[in-house]
Amino acid sequence: MPSETVPILEAALAEWGIALTPVQRQQFADYADLLVEWNATKLNLTRLVSDSGIAIGHFLDSLAVTRATEIGAKARLVDLGTGAGFPGLPIKILRPDLRLTLVEGTAKKLRFCQTVVNQCKITEVELIHGRAEDLCNEPGIRGSFDIATARAVAPMVKLLPWAVPFLKRKGIFVAWKGPAAAEEMQHAADVAARLHQSCRIVPVTLPLSGEPPRTDNFILCQREE
Ligand code: SAH
Repeated sequence: MPSETVPILEAALAEWGIALTPVQRQQFADYADLLVEWNATKLNLTRLVSDSGIAIGHFLDSLAVTRATEIGAKARLVDLGTGAGFPGLPIKILRPDLRLTLVEGTAKKLRFCQTVVNQCKITEVELIHGRAEDLCNEPGIRGSFDIATARAVAPMVKLLPWAVPFLKRKGIFVAWKGPAAAEEMQHAADVAARLHQSCRIVPVTLPLSGEPPRTDNFILCQREE
C-alpha cells in the first residue's frame, strides 16, 4: 500500500495555504520511508510511525513554526538536539533558501540525518556532533545564527543558556512546547532576565491533528531592545 504520509501532510498544509512542489513532495516521501525503515531495523528514532503520525506529529508539527514567526530569506537556522532531524529538516525542505545546521549529541542519530540529507538531496546542511552547551561558545558558531530551534530537548531553564549564545544580536530562539509552556517559562524567568531575553508564547493549532486538535505553544525569545 502506498504511504499516505504526503497526502495527509498536503491536506493539512492546504489549511495554511501552503502547497508543496513535486520536489518537496518527493523529499517528504523519501524522508518518511527512511524514518520507518531505520526505526524498524537500525535505531529507535520515534514512536510515531503511522502515516498520520509522521505527517502530523513530525512534519506538520515542525512546519508549524512558520505560523508563529517569520523566518527571513536565507536565514541561518540551527536546530539543537535534532534527533531524527526535527524540526530542522522539514523546515529546510519547505524553505530551501535557509542555511541549516543540525546539532545532535548522539552520533547514530546524526548518521540518520546525514542519510536523509543525501538521499533527499537536501543542500546547504551542516551536521555537528556535540552537545549544545559545549558548542555554543566556539568561534565560528557563537553569534552566528538568525534563529535557533529546539523541540523536546530540555526545559527552558536549560535551553535558554544553551541556545542564546548561538544567536546573532537580533536572533530569535524558538522552543516547541505543549500545555505546560507558561509554567515552564515562569520557572525560567530569572534565566531569561539574566540573558536579557524577552519571551512570549504563541499558540498554533495543527489542522487534522485529531479531536480535540493539538496545539503547539511556541516560546519565542529575543534580546530585549
Ligand atoms: N528534536 C527531536 C529529538 C528530541 S529527543 C524531536 O523533536 O523529535 C532529544 C534529542 O536531543 C536527543 O536526540 C538527544 O540526543 C538530544 N540532546 C539532548 N541534550 C542535548 C544537548 N545538550 N546537546 C545536543 N543534543 C542533545
